[in-house]
Amino acid sequence: MAYVIAEPCVDVKDLACVAVCPVDCIYEFEGENQLFIHPEECIDCDACRPECPVEAIFPLEDVPSQWQQYIELNSVIFETRSVDERVGGGALEPVEDAQPAAVGVSAGEMDELIALLAAVASKESSAEAALEDVLAALEKLGVEIES
Ligand code: SF4
Ligand code: SF4
Repeated sequence: MAYVIAEPCVDVKDLACVAVCPVDCIYEFEGENQLFIHPEECIDCDACRPECPVEAIFPLEDVPSQWQQYIELNSVIFETRSVDERVGGGALEPVEDAQPAAVGVSAGEMDELIALLAAVASKESSAEAALEDVLAALEKLGVEIES
């Protein structure tokens, strides 16, 4: 199951949804007048739906009856267009005013991070081991690290 982009997106295409999708599964293709959600890549997180200024995005089961054909459209497009054809290529264009998601850090987690950084500073562990620990701690906090 996946989310579906319906008619209100047509000729709007403001990319607000693209900026928040955590798995980059919302595609823009040259020559198409709307964006599409990849039915197999979407993880149903709901992040995009409230961002859409024209309420074009719906969970599959909530697509209004007059826009049912968009379920097929969001799927068939990926049979006719390669994902490599997306506007901006494999990587998405950065949205100018996009802000990184805020990450909540508890006092305990902050203490853990401080201890790890202190260990690095005092050379109690090797640089590689310290880096691995810090990355693991950040991952636990939901921070995505791209290599
Ligand atoms: S529901 Fe989540 S994963 Fe699916 S398109 Fe929207 S933001 Fe992306
Ligand atoms: S936020 Fe809505 S209108 Fe904008 S591109 Fe996404 S689906 Fe289309």
